[in-house]
Amino acid sequence: MIKVGITGGIGSGKTTVAHIFEVLNIPVYYADIEAKKIMNQDENLKQQIILQFGEQSYINGKLNKPYLAAEVFSNKKNTELINNMVHPATITNANNWMNTQTTLYAIKEAALIFEAKAEKHLDLIIGVTAPLNLRIKRVMLRDKLSEQEVLARMQKQMNETEKMNLCDFVINNDENELLIPQVVALHQKIIQNIERLHN
Ligand code: ATP
Repeated sequence: MIKVGITGGIGSGKTTVAHIFEVLNIPVYYADIEAKKIMNQDENLKQQIILQFGEQSYINGKLNKPYLAAEVFSNKKNTELINNMVHPATITNANNWMNTQTTLYAIKEAALIFEAKAEKHLDLIIGVTAPLNLRIKRVMLRDKLSEQEVLARMQKQMNETEKMNLCDFVINNDENELLIPQVVALHQKIIQNIERLHN
C-alpha cells in the first residue's frame, strides 16, 4: 500500500482534487473531518484537551466548538498546544485507516502535512496550487467570509511556494489548465511507478 498525501493552501482545491481521485476508485482520508471526529471519540485525546483547556471544552461529552475555537485561535501558544495533541492522534488514525485499504494506493488529504510533520508517514505528496486572488475569491464565496478574514486564515499557514517546493508532484488549479486530465495523468503515473516497483 502506497500512502499518498494531498496538500495545499486554503482554497487551492485540495478537496476538489481528492474528489476526482475518489471517482478513480482511490480511497481518500479527509484529515480535517476525521480530526473533528477523533476529538469527540478518542478518550485519551479528550482527557488531554480537558486537562489543558478545562471541563468547558466538552458539553455532555461533545466538543464545545465555540469555546475551544475562542481559546485556541486567538492565541498562538494555544494553537500549538492543541495541534500537538490533535495532529499525532490524527496521524495514528490515518495510518490505521491506510493499513486497511486494499487498493494500490490510498490518499490522505490534509492542509497541514508538513506543519504536522506527517510527511514521514507518507510515501509521496501531491501539492495543489492556485493563484492567490483565485484562492481568496473561492474561500470568500464558499465560507461567506470577507477578504480580510480569508487573508487572516492564510497568514497562519505555511507559504504556498515553500509548501509546493516540498511536494513530489504539483497540480495546477488555476482554472486555465483543466483539473481532471491532470489528475488522471498523475493517477496513471503513480500506478505505473507502483507496478514497476512490484515487477
Ligand atoms: P480548504 O483548505 O479551505 O478546505 P481546499 O484546498 O480543500 O480548501 P476546495 O474546497 O477544494 O479547496 O475548493 C475551494 C472552493 O473553490 C470550493 O468551493 C470549490 O468548489 C471551488 N473550486 C476549487 N477548484 C475549482 C475550479 N477548478 N473551478 C471552480 N471552482 C473551484
